[in-house]
Amino acid sequence: RMLLDKEDSVSLVSLQSREKTRGCAGCNGKIRDRFMLQALDRYWHEDCLKCACCDCRLGRVGSTLYTRANLILCRRDYLRLFGVTGKCAACTKLIPAFEMVMRARDNVYHLDCFACQLCRQRFCVGDRFFLKNNMILCQMDYEGGNLNGEAQRLSQ
Ligand SMILES: [Zn+2]
Ligand SMILES: [Zn+2]
Ligand SMILES: [Zn+2]
Ligand SMILES: [Zn+2]
Repeated sequence: RMLLDKEDSVSLVSLQSREKTRGCAGCNGKIRDRFMLQALDRYWHEDCLKCACCDCRLGRVGSTLYTRANLILCRRDYLRLFGVTGKCAACTKLIPAFEMVMRARDNVYHLDCFACQLCRQRFCVGDRFFLKNNMILCQMDYEGGNLNGEAQRLSQ
């Protein structure tokens, strides 16, 4: 599971006529529109609640927004910047979403971790590698161990 700093959903609220006007948390101006957005315990003009990264409007009712380090982000940008791709099958550490990875079957690997787990030989595109008990093996170690596994050809 990813750790989210804060995740909130956006709701549309209507200004009651007897209520005093509220300030917009985005532009600090007064909200005189009949409808405004409520998110993160504050009120916003419909145009002022935007993703800090791609500028898309977050005001679609029910949409989810994320905050981190004082940035308000749409889901896509949040995951791109702060999400994780998964756990490296070799070193078991998390891989940030923006990092290049190697994939083999359902596993993902750091580029640096994608090597024969016995002799540490690196692979080039077109090289054959073998998966055995979820371990990456070069052809020599695979054949030397006389194990049953599946050959894969490196394609990425
Ligand atoms: Zn505003
Ligand atoms: Zn965005
Ligand atoms: Zn790794
Ligand atoms: Zn090897």
